[in-house]
Amino acid sequence: MASRRHVGSSGSSLSRSFGWGLPKLKCKCGVEAVIRRVRNVDNVGMKFYGCPNWPEGDCGFFQWVNANNMDLEDLRFQVFEKDTQVAEKEIEIDFMKEQLKKIEKNLDIKKDELNDTKMELSHTRIEIMKAARNVKNFSIALFVSWIFFAFLLVYLKP
Ligand SMILES: [Zn+2]
Repeated sequence: MASRRHVGSSGSSLSRSFGWGLPKLKCKCGVEAVIRRVRNVDNVGMKFYGCPNWPEGDCGFFQWVNANNMDLEDLRFQVFEKDTQVAEKEIEIDFMKEQLKKIEKNLDIKKDELNDTKMELSHTRIEIMKAARNVKNFSIALFVSWIFFAFLLVYLKP
């Protein structure tokens, strides 16, 4: 008889209702209080019982969840949460690495383009220098021919 009751009670404690097996409390409204996690910086992650009608018209019921009542499942859940966060960060890092690869690839393309432009520019510079040299040569040729013409004029003067 006693053992049967023991089996029954342990069976009910295994049921996974909201609150991960924590004892149920009633708020001042007479309804079952809900368990929430603290979001502010000082006590982040700590749990408390609060009125289910919060934030609209709650009765102001507040009670910390005793740390001793946090069972193994809750700790496991916290570990699971941390694992999930780590996995999310890893995915983020992979994504960033992928982005970095793309940027590096683009950078290589830009470098190639820049090199092409530089080569074109130096080629153009050589062309201009050649052209300038031609103009200079032409000027010298013109100058020489003009002197020759002047000399011819003087020479042919009767
Ligand atoms: Zn209430």
